[in-house]
Amino acid sequence: PSFWRQNKPIRSQSSNHQPHGDGFVLEDVPHLTDFLPNLPSYPNPLQQSQAYAVVKKTFVSSSDAVAQEVVVQDDSPRGVHFRRAGPREKVFFHSKEVRACIVTCGGLCPGINTVIREIVCGLSYMYGVEEILGIEGGYRGFYSKNTLQLTPKVVNDIHKRGGTFLRTSRGGHDTHKIVDNIQDRGINQVYIIGGDGTQKGAALIYKEVEKRGLKVAVAGIPKTIDNDIAVIDKSFGFDTAVEEAQRAINAAHVEVESVENGIGIVKLMGRYSGFIALYATLASRDVDCCLIPESPFYLEGQGGLVEFIEQRLKENGHMVIVLAEGAGQEYIAQHMHAAGEKDASGNKLLLDVGLWLTERIKDHFAKGQKMAINMKYIDPTYMIRAIPSNASDNIYCTLLAHSAVHGAMAGYSGFTVGPVNSRHAYIPISRVTETQNTVKLTDRMWARLLASTNQPSFLDRNEMQQRVDLINSNIENTSI
Ligand code: ATP
Ligand code: MG
Repeated sequence: PSFWRQNKPIRSQSSNHQPHGDGFVLEDVPHLTDFLPNLPSYPNPLQQSQAYAVVKKTFVSSSDAVAQEVVVQDDSPRGVHFRRAGPREKVFFHSKEVRACIVTCGGLCPGINTVIREIVCGLSYMYGVEEILGIEGGYRGFYSKNTLQLTPKVVNDIHKRGGTFLRTSRGGHDTHKIVDNIQDRGINQVYIIGGDGTQKGAALIYKEVEKRGLKVAVAGIPKTIDNDIAVIDKSFGFDTAVEEAQRAINAAHVEVESVENGIGIVKLMGRYSGFIALYATLASRDVDCCLIPESPFYLEGQGGLVEFIEQRLKENGHMVIVLAEGAGQEYIAQHMHAAGEKDASGNKLLLDVGLWLTERIKDHFAKGQKMAINMKYIDPTYMIRAIPSNASDNIYCTLLAHSAVHGAMAGYSGFTVGPVNSRHAYIPISRVTETQNTVKLTDRMWARLLASTNQPSFLDRNEMQQRVDLINSNIENTSI
């Protein structure tokens, strides 16, 4: 179409994401030929593939882009675009030369095994790759553990299990040792499945690979059960988590309905963003109150949580509270005078808001001798993380894995994959690590939740206005 001619894509390897002003911007991912200009290419073996023989358009053109936001002005697309994911006509690896490896780092999330399986099967069936190594136990596995040979047969059933077939760990990222090891083993494609920390590690590995001028494709597959990854529509495992959370909420509801003045507290995942709690609450309809990190709350006094609890108990005789693990952290820290501890990867350890809240509510009702209550605290977080992914996540994981495989074969490196506006794209790693997605209290989704639970917002008008102003000013600063 004519706009390609009018607006030549600007190749901006945007690690800084400044507003780009008007026009069409392609936030491109690096390619091996950026630092190895004479790299030979080969025809994509998919041309011979039976599976793709009947596909109308087998290959994605190098000028295909995915718009982050659909903006068309004067017949021209504007705003930020990413390279569309998918098989390319030319590949930069000969199938027989590929020596791939897969590593998983950080916490568990439903679907990791499906991604592993589909990378192995994708490389094998689509590209005829035979050498695929599993690096065991996270980043440190590169230099301290054994590897195992992965074949479609070895991974055949793993998507039916939770966890990660390759095991995982926190900490232990040593870029030099990892890249030394990649070089020693002759690895030339590295698939890295993990969260924000892992993707930052992947970016460092790519930088080192580039510095050493190695022909190594580094592909990140972003993992977070919290759905807090910027740019992409949704992260894998999220649907499964929301679905499984229903069972815990349902259990809490059954418990509290069966006793007098039952209060059920269900703690769900969500360190910095409350998407799981929000979606699980909206899906369930058994929840009276949802507390998330983005929306501060307080206990005592007018409009506080305990006042609301008293009111609901009087009305209904029971209530269910859903709590994201990161909710109320500052508030609890003030009350507990707690020191901030960190895990092996340097992440701040959260205070247990569920236990704290349970005790505080119990204390409140015991103190006033207002009414006898029945507290039930359910923490299903580890159970949710451990289950295999559901049907929709399995399909999604397959697409992610195939995108990563096509991208690496096509010579892209230092990229992550994910759907942007429902089209799969190659995204610069920095774009998914620099910011986090959070629930916007000014968005309609949060209003829908408040309307559904009919809970207080725990903010007075002034606070609400300040928050709205702050959020709006941030939006203005980051908008295109
Ligand atoms: P999640 O938070 O979803 O559990 P994550 O990938 O963020 O996943 P982390 O434990 O923070 O989990 O990190 C996983 C791996 O990435 C660890 O091996 C850690 O050493 C490494 N890592 C974390 N942050 C960085 C960083 N800034 N630079 C390099 N490596 C990092
Ligand atoms: Mg993390």
